[in-house]
Amino acid sequence: MTMQTKALLTDLLDFLWESPTPFHAVESAVTRLRLAGFRALDECESWGALESGGYYVVHGGSALAAFVVPDPSRVKAFHLIGAHTDSPNLRCKSVAPFEREGYAQLGVEVYGGALLNSWLDRDLGIAGRVVFADAQGRMDTRLVRFDRPLARVAQLAIHLDREVNERGLVLNKQTQMPPIVGMGESPDALRELCAQALGVGAGAMRAFELMLYDLARPTLGGLDDAFIFSARLDNLAMCHAALCALLAASGSDGDCVRMAVLFDHEEVGSQSATGAGSDFLPRLLERLSLAFRQSREEYLVTLARSVCLSADMAHALHPNYPDRHEPNHRPVLNGGPVLKVNAQQRYATSVLSGAMFESLCQEAEVPMQRYVHRTDLQCGSTIGPITSTLLGIPTVDVGNPMLSMHSVREMGGREDVACMVAVMTRFLELRSDLTSR
Ligand code: ZN
Repeated sequence: MTMQTKALLTDLLDFLWESPTPFHAVESAVTRLRLAGFRALDECESWGALESGGYYVVHGGSALAAFVVPDPSRVKAFHLIGAHTDSPNLRCKSVAPFEREGYAQLGVEVYGGALLNSWLDRDLGIAGRVVFADAQGRMDTRLVRFDRPLARVAQLAIHLDREVNERGLVLNKQTQMPPIVGMGESPDALRELCAQALGVGAGAMRAFELMLYDLARPTLGGLDDAFIFSARLDNLAMCHAALCALLAASGSDGDCVRMAVLFDHEEVGSQSATGAGSDFLPRLLERLSLAFRQSREEYLVTLARSVCLSADMAHALHPNYPDRHEPNHRPVLNGGPVLKVNAQQRYATSVLSGAMFESLCQEAEVPMQRYVHRTDLQCGSTIGPITSTLLGIPTVDVGNPMLSMHSVREMGGREDVACMVAVMTRFLELRSDLTSR
C-alpha cells in the first residue's frame, strides 16, 4: 500500500466515524473543504459575479454542493458527482422517552430500509441536531453527539424464543425496536442531556432531531486487513470519494465546473427539500451560470453539455448466498468500481454514459466490474434516475462493491477506495468535448 493510499483509507475511516448523522457528514465535509481553501456561499445572499476557485454551499444542514470553478468565461459544462449523506437507522420520536414495565425506553422510528436485526445488542450512542433559544430569544441550531453507550435494543433470550434460529427473526418496528435507556420514568432525559451539552437551560430547548448509532469504530479487518468494517459505508464511502476526487482534481485547469453534490433522504425516496428530488441542484446550476454572466441560452447549452456520475455503493457477491446474484454479473470486494445497469431505469446508466465510465477506468488503470440485479428480484435505486430526470443529462450509476448493505455494520473492500477516487478524479478533469452524450 502506498503512503497516499494509506492516508486515504485513514481519512475515510475518520470521515465515517465523524459522521454518525447526515448533519455531521456535511460538517465533516465542510471541515475538509475549508482546509483546502474552499469558500462558503450562502444561498440566502446574492453571489454577484464569481471568480475561479473552490466554493461550497450547505443546504438545509444535511445537503451540500462543493465545486471548483475554472475561468468563468470558459465554462462549457458541469461535471457532477452525486451521492447521499443519509443511511438507514433508528431515529428518536419527538416525544421519545417513555416508561414500560418499569424500564425507561426511547420511542424510535425506523428510517429507511434498515436491517433491524443488526441493531440488536449493540452499544448505541445518540447524535443529531438541536434547536434552542439563545439568551436573546433567537433560534439557534447546534449539532450534538454523545459517544457513550446510552441505549440498547436487547434481543429476547433464546430460552424465550426457542425456534428463532430455525424460523428466523421477525421484529415489530413499533413494539420490539425501542431501546432501553434506564429504569423508571425519565420523560425529560433527552432534553436535559442536550441542554447540558449545549450549556443552556432545559427550558431553552425547542426541538431535536436525534438518531442512534453504533459505537464500534470503523476499522480495517480480515486476515490481511483487506476489508473495511464500518457503519454507513452506504453511502458515506461515496461522499468521501467524491470529495477526495474534487480536492485531487482542483489544481488542474479545464472548461468544466467540477462538482460534488451530496443529498439527504435518498434512503426514503429523495422527495424532500434536501433530497435529490428537490430543486436544489437545478437552481444551484442556474445561479452559477448567472454568476458566470451567461445568458439563459448559454445556460441551457452548458446544461446540455453536462454529465452526472451518480455514486452509490453496489452489492458484491455474497459467498453464502451466490443464488441471490445474477449468474453473469458477480462483482467482488476489492475487484474495483462497479458499473450498474438496469433496463427499468432503477439505475440511470445509458449505453453512452456506461461506455464513458469504462474508458475512464481504463485510463485510470483501474479494474471495472458490472452489476445487473437478478430479473426475478426487485432492484434498489439511487439518486441517479432522479437527477437525470430533473436535469435531462446523461448519468452513469456506479459504486464500490460491499456486503451487508443497510446493516448497522457494513463491509467493503480496502483496494476499491483509491480506485474509485482515481476514476472520479479523471471524470472531473475531462474536457467538455471528451464526454459522451
Ligand atoms: Zn445508498
